[in-house]
Amino acid sequence: MIKRQSTPEAARDGSSDSMSQREKNRHGGTACECCGNEYDKPLEIVQNGVSHYFDSFECAIHTLAPKCAHCGCRILGHGLEAGGAFFCCAHCADKQGVKELVDRA
Ligand SMILES: [Zn+2]
Ligand SMILES: [Zn+2]
Repeated sequence: MIKRQSTPEAARDGSSDSMSQREKNRHGGTACECCGNEYDKPLEIVQNGVSHYFDSFECAIHTLAPKCAHCGCRILGHGLEAGGAFFCCAHCADKQGVKELVDRA
């Protein structure tokens, strides 16, 4: 008996395959930017003129919401900004050495 090692896919020298199935999807590029889930009612958020698509607010927050430079929580309200850093509240800004900020919200 002749043992044949026929490997039709043997010659795989890294040609094009797999990769970004996420980018092309049936809803026209609206797969969640965070987790890749395709949802037929995606959430579109335009930030600085760039559209972002998500399947949930949680994913949108995870991807887009700034983080407090002191405590690290996601800033979902107005927040405070000082020298490129975001803070969730005046207390955190104060703890980080930013004295002049006062809650405006
Ligand atoms: Zn998602
Ligand atoms: Zn904070």
